[in-house]
Amino acid sequence: MAFEAYGGNGWLLTTFEQLINWGRKRSPWPLPYGTACCGIEMMAALASGYDMARFGAERPSFSPRQADVLIEAGTITKKMVPVLKKIYDQMAEPKWVIAMGACACSGGVFRTYSTLQGIDNVIPVDVYIPGCPPRPEALLQALLELHEKIDRDRPLRGGAARAAQGG
Ligand code: SF4
Repeated sequence: MAFEAYGGNGWLLTTFEQLINWGRKRSPWPLPYGTACCGIEMMAALASGYDMARFGAERPSFSPRQADVLIEAGTITKKMVPVLKKIYDQMAEPKWVIAMGACACSGGVFRTYSTLQGIDNVIPVDVYIPGCPPRPEALLQALLELHEKIDRDRPLRGGAARAAQGG
């Protein structure tokens, strides 16, 4: 957030939008949706060794109504699509999606009739993490990229940056 400090009297100037974005990006509540091996890497990122709390995301929620960042880690079969969509629809606005791993991004090696070839076929994705599996550090990097995306948002103008980017 861009702050301007004046004198020694404790004055700080910023815009209301930047203040909202700062609050949003510093307290994402992830909904961990691990469906396959990538889920293990996500669990490692949430554990103390990697400490996602540094990025304000230490509070995983298993209720979509109390989460704003869906972390989809693993293969999605077409049978699971209604569940994934329902969870996304029930999440609070504004919400973001991280597709973790090759399977979530594109179906990965599973080019089969039963596997969804990328979750962006059914829900919008904000950050893609490549790899099979991506390491926990990659999820931390994705969170930082999400911070930047939230920073570009214009919440008082209808989330213009988010809409313009198709997210
Ligand atoms: S991308 Fe690789 S590690 Fe991740 S769920 Fe698919 S097969 Fe497993």
